[in-house]
Amino acid sequence: MSNNWIRENIRQVHIDFHMPEFPRESITNFNAQEFVSEFVRAKVNVIGVFTKCHFGNAFYDNTVGHKHSGLKEDFFGEVLTEAKKHDIKVIAYYSLGTDAHAVLHNPDWYQVDEKGQVRGSEGTVWELPCINSPYREELVIPQVKEITEKYEMDGYLFDIPYIHNHYCFCSYCKKKFQEEYGQALTPELLETNRELVIGFGIDSAARCMKEIYDVIKKIRPEVLVNCNGAWRMGEPASVNATSDYGLWESQPSATGSFLGHSIRARHIRTLDVPVQIMTVRFTEGWGLMSCKTSEQLKFEFSCIMANGGIINIGDQVMPDGSLQSGVYDIIGEAFSFVEEREAFCIGAKSVRHTALIADNSSNWYHDKDDSATFGAAKMLIEGHHQFDIYYNDEFPDLTGYKVVVLPENVKLSAQSIDRLDIFVREGGLLLAEGAATYSREAKDFKLAEILGLNYLERTPYPFAYFTENEELWNGIAKIPQLVEGEFIKTIPTTAEALSYIHWPLTVPAVNRAFRHPMPPAGIVSDFHGISVNRHGKGIALYVAAPVFRTYWNNNHFWVRRMITNLLNKFDTDKYFEVEAPVHVEANLMEKDGKKYLHLINFQNIHAGEKSSSFYDPIENITPVHNIEVHINDKQIQSVITRPDNEQLVIESTDKGIRFTVPKVHIHTIIELSKE
Ligand SMILES: [Zn+2]
Repeated sequence: MSNNWIRENIRQVHIDFHMPEFPRESITNFNAQEFVSEFVRAKVNVIGVFTKCHFGNAFYDNTVGHKHSGLKEDFFGEVLTEAKKHDIKVIAYYSLGTDAHAVLHNPDWYQVDEKGQVRGSEGTVWELPCINSPYREELVIPQVKEITEKYEMDGYLFDIPYIHNHYCFCSYCKKKFQEEYGQALTPELLETNRELVIGFGIDSAARCMKEIYDVIKKIRPEVLVNCNGAWRMGEPASVNATSDYGLWESQPSATGSFLGHSIRARHIRTLDVPVQIMTVRFTEGWGLMSCKTSEQLKFEFSCIMANGGIINIGDQVMPDGSLQSGVYDIIGEAFSFVEEREAFCIGAKSVRHTALIADNSSNWYHDKDDSATFGAAKMLIEGHHQFDIYYNDEFPDLTGYKVVVLPENVKLSAQSIDRLDIFVREGGLLLAEGAATYSREAKDFKLAEILGLNYLERTPYPFAYFTENEELWNGIAKIPQLVEGEFIKTIPTTAEALSYIHWPLTVPAVNRAFRHPMPPAGIVSDFHGISVNRHGKGIALYVAAPVFRTYWNNNHFWVRRMITNLLNKFDTDKYFEVEAPVHVEANLMEKDGKKYLHLINFQNIHAGEKSSSFYDPIENITPVHNIEVHINDKQIQSVITRPDNEQLVIESTDKGIRFTVPKVHIHTIIELSKE
């Protein structure tokens, strides 16, 4: 089946329409032509349109379920017809995991928590039906059949495929569990065999999505089906199997980092499946009717498209059924910016250099991401390294990669360790930190032989220092450098020290207080802080502290500078080198025989009260001038900036060429070609 349209049309808007029935005169101002004209004006080429919202209200001419009482027209059908006139693709949105109308009229369909309470809204939008109840047979499947038979949509988005926290103790879950596992589903079992209970919840979601998927495909095999969250890093394979394309929500600053788009895209670009990276127009999350600046949206969209993602931005219909025109002025300006650049981005593949093999399965909608993975990615982006991100054992044949980075949270099988062993023996560079690959059974690192050291034990200190190494201390103060995380003692076999662990003076306690709760360095230990091991033709580096997690959590820039210096010392075969500030991201893609070096510039403003003003808007991005770039490829003959088509003057170097990029405002693409 072709999923090309979703890859090739990256100016996408998802229009939320979670609409309660209490507002008087609701949806009295809906006009399909005016509605769709906003998308046309803003150069949108894919829209997500509601068929049913979290309140359980249908937005199409239905025979099954409950249509919104204020809606006279066929909202979905009319928008679909109008969109087709303008060649805009339509994704039908269906709220699966939340449906207030369904549970308020059928209380036995509610999810039930471990205290026996139904999962009701308590004044929010979250009234949660259970997919193991007849909600599925009596409402969801008949509605999906009706919608699919009636309308020629291009795609589907099923929202909230999972039972909340993956467990429910409703009578229907209990019945199904008893029949399948021959034992009672109880809150006690959640304590004693959490894996079994959670596994049942995930299976339930996958089976529900499989049933929905098959219903749709039988009627319209060409329609692309998706459930929210599919193909995120760490998503269950059984759920991914029910999604023809992926969707990874990403909301910079409100609940996520401005690095989130780039980091997500650097993972999903390694998959064969197209994946939307979904941001929102709102500053602080879904449905807050504020609007970001076009400058911010240009930056966000650049991060997504330059790194191989599909841009999708969320909006919200007003209670009267209209769109806010002013928002489409902003989105239109940002999508014009995308339109100028997208031909260089769509269908491009990343150039292999560094593989960050990591884990991010803690991500649950807008929960915090895994800090070790995100800290490693932040360091690599700020250090202008070229890298892709893989999920644990699911990394590919490493041909073409020159560096592998392993954060402490990585989970690797024995086979993966063997593959990494070959990678290093054949000349690869490996960097591991902290407890990466530590095995509780073996009480040692699975990587011990590659790293040339064995695990000894933990230390009494929650933090410690590294002793100075002149080369690695380039750009930071010549002092013992703090890492605010727990160090690991190791016994070297063949590894050599580049820096030692410098114990803190003490752990503050009664009679050992110090001015700051983290006292200065005291005794220099005999243990390696940073070590290097030659293994076959390659090199393995080990850092005996969780530098990635602590960098994400503390923003201690000196830690990034040390680790970047360490990588740069041994990673001597880079394709490109960029001399730019840390707020400029560099990423190399290739397409149609040409290479494209993307330079993206970031800037936001001072935070106010840190505990409450967690939203840092982007208002203006100040251009960066005269960025020097080295391309270590003697075949490159021509360098042109896109989209402004300026031919840059190149000079030969020992390894290739160098040139100066005169200006990067938000996103400049450097096209490198052999003729
Ligand atoms: Zn249930």
